Amino acid sequence: MTGSPVQPHAPGGESEEAHPAVTSPAGSIPVELLVTASAATAQAGIQADPVSERDRHFMRLAQAAAEEARAAGEVPVGAVLVRGDEVIASGFNHPIGAHDPSAHAEMAALRAGAHALGNYRLPGCELYVTLEPCLMCAGAIMHARIARVVFGARDPKTGACGSVVDAFANDQLNHHTSVSGGVLADECGEALRAFFADRRRASREARRARAQAGQAQGGAGVAGPDEPAG
Ligand SMILES: [Zn+2]
Repeated sequence: MTGSPVQPHAPGGESEEAHPAVTSPAGSIPVELLVTASAATAQAGIQADPVSERDRHFMRLAQAAAEEARAAGEVPVGAVLVRGDEVIASGFNHPIGAHDPSAHAEMAALRAGAHALGNYRLPGCELYVTLEPCLMCAGAIMHARIARVVFGARDPKTGACGSVVDAFANDQLNHHTSVSGGVLADECGEALRAFFADRRRASREARRARAQAGQAQGGAGVAGPDEPAG
């Protein structure tokens, strides 16, 4: 009765709250460089906005935040909060290290951004996130009155921007936020695929090492299960 989920190494206890860094403003962006409208964004519930170089720029910053999550052994999702051409805050996914089921990248960026601006509402701000927000984050985004959400890869398991549910399509819930999806979707998705592939590989190797250690102990006394007490 285990089916033990592969746990990424839990970070040590010294800093339980991995506070997302409030990043400095990110130079000026060539806002005008409009390019192709991605066919991927034309799916149900998602506005088929043209993907601009500006969107790619901020999504790359969100990807850099996702890399911080990966380095911490967390599922690599990153987000940046933008007002105009200024990055107000960034955040990365860290529920394991923070012992906090709400510590998704979007929540971290919203918290840091609201703190930085001294306002629990963030009208006029855009949130860039590498993975389609879940229902919890969609709710927080609406409470914060974010003007626009831009996400990278779709999440077929928990996506709340059309993949599983479309929270933003409900006019009774959503009065403020437009949604664009599919910006650098392949790159954002690849970071997640690579992370899970690495984790599966590590899990296989750990199982193999345990099996070999068991054999080395001579096979006598095999009966005792050697599961570490959680
Ligand atoms: Zn979420």
